Amino acid sequence: MSRARLPNLGWLVVGYGITVLLGRLTVGGPGTLSLVWPAAGVAAAWFWSLTPVASRRRILIDYVALAGITFIVLLATAATWTMALDRALGAVLQFLVMVEVLRRTATSRDALGRPVMANLADLGRLTAVAAVGALVNTLVALVVLLPDGEVAWSDAVNLWTRQVAGVVCLGLPLLVLWHGDDRSRRSGRFGLMAVGATSAVVFGAAFWWFSGTPLGYALLVPSIAAGTLLRPAGAAAHGVISATAAVCFTLAGSGPFSRALAGEAYTSIAQLCAMLIVVTGLSLSLVRAESRQLADRLAERARDSEVRLDEVSTIIETVHDGIVVIKQDGSVPLANPAGLQLVGAALAEQDESPAAGSYRTFHADGRPLTRDDRPSLLAMRTGEVVVQTVTQRADGRPDRVLRVIATPIDGPAEDPQRRVVVVLTDVTLVDEERRSLASFAGIVAHDLLNPIGVVDGWAEALQEAFEDHGVVTSDVGSPMVERVRRSARSMQHFVQDLLAFTTARDRAIEPRPVDLSLLVGELAALRRDVTPAAGGPAIEVSPLPRVFVDPFLMRQLFDNLLGNAVKYVAPGTVPHVCVDSVPGPAGFATLRVTDNGIGIPEGERDKVFDEFQRLQPEGYSGTGLGLAICRRIIERHGGHIWVESAPDQPGSRFAFDLPLTASSLAASPG
Ligand code: ADP
Repeated sequence: MSRARLPNLGWLVVGYGITVLLGRLTVGGPGTLSLVWPAAGVAAAWFWSLTPVASRRRILIDYVALAGITFIVLLATAATWTMALDRALGAVLQFLVMVEVLRRTATSRDALGRPVMANLADLGRLTAVAAVGALVNTLVALVVLLPDGEVAWSDAVNLWTRQVAGVVCLGLPLLVLWHGDDRSRRSGRFGLMAVGATSAVVFGAAFWWFSGTPLGYALLVPSIAAGTLLRPAGAAAHGVISATAAVCFTLAGSGPFSRALAGEAYTSIAQLCAMLIVVTGLSLSLVRAESRQLADRLAERARDSEVRLDEVSTIIETVHDGIVVIKQDGSVPLANPAGLQLVGAALAEQDESPAAGSYRTFHADGRPLTRDDRPSLLAMRTGEVVVQTVTQRADGRPDRVLRVIATPIDGPAEDPQRRVVVVLTDVTLVDEERRSLASFAGIVAHDLLNPIGVVDGWAEALQEAFEDHGVVTSDVGSPMVERVRRSARSMQHFVQDLLAFTTARDRAIEPRPVDLSLLVGELAALRRDVTPAAGGPAIEVSPLPRVFVDPFLMRQLFDNLLGNAVKYVAPGTVPHVCVDSVPGPAGFATLRVTDNGIGIPEGERDKVFDEFQRLQPEGYSGTGLGLAICRRIIERHGGHIWVESAPDQPGSRFAFDLPLTASSLAASPG
């Protein structure tokens, strides 16, 4: 026996015995049938509570118990052997059929697979099952008892009514009370009081004060009240009590049905009314419970959708990519702020947009984007996803490069015209970086190819000289070898500068306090040593501050600047360089390297800090990377570098800021 059966089964077995006994108390005389049969309701609850938890074989024991109790109680209450046997057999077949039919219906089930009363359809199905079971029981009585003359045809009809009434008036409410209701929601106190009062008044009137008046129809009023004011469990309890009261009063001889018809029929009429009372209350209450559940579910879904909609809206509003939805008729049902900002500029998707006219849009290869080429229109026309990179050009503003993905989607049923979702990403920076990398690679390749060509050319000339003369004299060979070596050196410098450039750009900086007087003093001494004779550079180093910088990069910075200062002088001029410092912006010192060189024209002063920018390709060797390295180093220390003309003399003055302390370095944006 499964655990799930235990709580109810004992009570049901005892309850069945008691209700069989109660039913037997209503027999008209020895050998006649009972007038009411509440036992059918208890047995229904008993077997429904097993279905389909128990296997058919295990349920056999319950059928034996059912037959045994029926047989014994009937014999004990003066029934004949035949009748007791017949009723036991009838009961077994009735519930056997009910259980089997129920197994095959679509009635709602609980987690264990037992039937529950969740809605109006369940009420209908279970009532029909009860009617079929009762019919089988009645047929058994007809087959066995009718030929013996123990029952008449009219008894058979009454028997069927009693069996159905027993199940409907007691079995169904028990099912609702045990399994079928949402216990977390109780009937309200006001509802209980109103139903109680209405029932007392109506039943009092029908069975007491105006007993004998045909007030049977009025008995439905309390049921309607129970159905509309109480939860299904409350309506079920009200149904059982009212039905029992109606039948008991009728049996006691009072009420609207007591004298309605002669003989036993009056109890059958009373039982039909009792069924109506129960079914009315239950069905109204079930419909209300169902619609309330539906409303709860709908409200919950509405809440969920609202939350989700909020989330999605926030995401759409905050993403950096522009999102624009365009309908077939050209209207724009959705555009996020980034989309609005880009869409006027981007694509000129909407000629109607005020900003569209001021922009011109081009393909990546420079062709103007025609109206038919627009990604949104292409996607609308072809029904396929279109991905394009376009350039926006506007007067007085830098070009903007956008990646556009246009995805066609079908509209909802109520507005089925096609839409295109356009996602716009500003890829200007990425594009710039890509272009500058490509041009960097191109320049590197070009600048390396040049000296390689020179090396190859002079090596070939040398080889030819060998082939022509067998021996090459030093006055012929030496200049050739010298040119090869010069080119090799130039390549070496170039590669060194490239390495220095990448180091300045990518190497993690390791800042610490650095005494600049010491560092620059050392570098100046090295420079002087290169050309120690008279005519060598004069480099003056004023007292310089201690700064908080990466010493390796500082050495690279000052070496480049001193190198340029002594290099870019007019022929015959002795270089004269002065390094000093003045107070800079908060937390920074401004360092200055002033020379007496050829100077830099005002219009070129920003350009010289770009990669590969050389103002004097002839006469002065170089790669055009030195100042780009300096700018990168300064920027990584949170400073700024610029060039101006040297005061009171021809020449240039390079000035830049360096952090004095760790905190000023940390606070800087570099
Ligand atoms: P490189 O010296 O290898 O050519 P740089 O980046 O160091 O490359 O310098 C870029 C250009 O700036 C040089 O070609 C030169 O024309 C100019 N320049 C740099 N320093 C000076 C200076 N002290 N005086 C005059 N011109 C300079």
